[in-house]
Amino acid sequence: MSQTITRFAPSPTGFIHVGNLRTALMNYLIARKNGGTFILRIDDTDPERSKEKYVDGIKEDLTWLGLHWDRVERQSERLEKYHAAAEELRAKGRFYEAFETPTELDLKRKKQLNMGKPPVYDRAALSLSDGEKEKLRAERGNGVWRFKLDHTRIEWADGILGDISIDAASVSDPVLIRGDGQILYTLASVVDDTEMGVTHVVRGSDHVTNTATQIQIMQALGHSHPSFAHHSLLTGPQGEALSKRLGTLALRDLREQGVEPFALLSLMARLGSSDPVELRTDMESLIEGFDINHFGSAPTKFDVQDLFPLTGRYLQTRSLQDVADTIAALGVPEDQAAQFWAVTRENIETLHDLKGWWRMFRDGAEPVIEEEDKAFVAEAMALLPEGPFDESTWSTWTAAVKEQTGRKGRGLFRPLRLALTGQEHGPEMAAVMPLLQVVKARA
Ligand code: GLU
Repeated sequence: MSQTITRFAPSPTGFIHVGNLRTALMNYLIARKNGGTFILRIDDTDPERSKEKYVDGIKEDLTWLGLHWDRVERQSERLEKYHAAAEELRAKGRFYEAFETPTELDLKRKKQLNMGKPPVYDRAALSLSDGEKEKLRAERGNGVWRFKLDHTRIEWADGILGDISIDAASVSDPVLIRGDGQILYTLASVVDDTEMGVTHVVRGSDHVTNTATQIQIMQALGHSHPSFAHHSLLTGPQGEALSKRLGTLALRDLREQGVEPFALLSLMARLGSSDPVELRTDMESLIEGFDINHFGSAPTKFDVQDLFPLTGRYLQTRSLQDVADTIAALGVPEDQAAQFWAVTRENIETLHDLKGWWRMFRDGAEPVIEEEDKAFVAEAMALLPEGPFDESTWSTWTAAVKEQTGRKGRGLFRPLRLALTGQEHGPEMAAVMPLLQVVKARA
């Protein structure tokens, strides 16, 4: 068996979002699981829409996630290869020039639909004489170049969808080169996948028809095709289409919101498969438990909110060293950092939440004192010893308060927690006390 080679092939026309992350991750995991090669291929044959800032952004986002690629390829640097392939298709009689305008094509489609026929290109251009083509070229400029499909059934065993069989006659001959000479993705991708020896192509199920035509183009160029798997598309939590909202689910936005890479990876590497989503904190175990054949073809529900509890659980596994820089940046004194992290780590969803905790410890919380507890809290505060507090302060203090007021249990502890932290629940108060710096001053 040849070495496994996969690729992630984004067009640099936007930043990576959760939808294309899935594609990237699956291809990455397959390569790593088989000790193979993972190529980052930048599909930038469209000079108008491709932007360098997106190329950089894609690399930044993959690096943030730890999805390291073995090499980068850029389609814009490989144009001669695509032209050579086009030449070969011409020579083999599988490529023809067509001159219909978009409006004419639209009209044809509408007519077909009205007649209850599938809107497949009617190949009218195939019957143009050389003279007619000359005339059209003079009037309209160069035509587009279409690949002439062989009207057979195109079949492959899809890694996710199972056996696929598509009647080529139900598909329009794909345009591979535009009138202005721009090479389109379908041709470039075929050339790259074969020349780069790509063995596995995983992409979204919106590419199924593309795959059918690409298989024929590969065959026309004398090559066998890689194995294909098409993952289902993501929907929102209610099953609603996500395509329009994907722009708001860019990885960089999630990063800004404090989502941790392993929360995202753990979710996206299993969502839509028969394997449970479990928090993974290292790439090895993500790779080990991954099997593309466990994914189903049904649309996959994605809820961005799922990323936050996973992030919280991931953060609980972090040592002080892992978060020391973030904590120092908040202004937590070095000798309090360990205590601060011990107290907060189980009470945050993202590292952003540390800010609020630190503000509370440093400046004191807005005390919450219920009407009937006013006198009790005042009495308790009078018993609070001078700071600095330590781990034993809470037990000695509450014992003294209990003794003096006769209160116990929830009636004793709850109003004191509320008065000191402004919150009903939270970390162990014994551990909180040493961090409270200003309580005594306010009392
Ligand atoms: N540039 C294509 C896309 O982003 C690549 C699809 C493929 O993986 O072949 O949809």
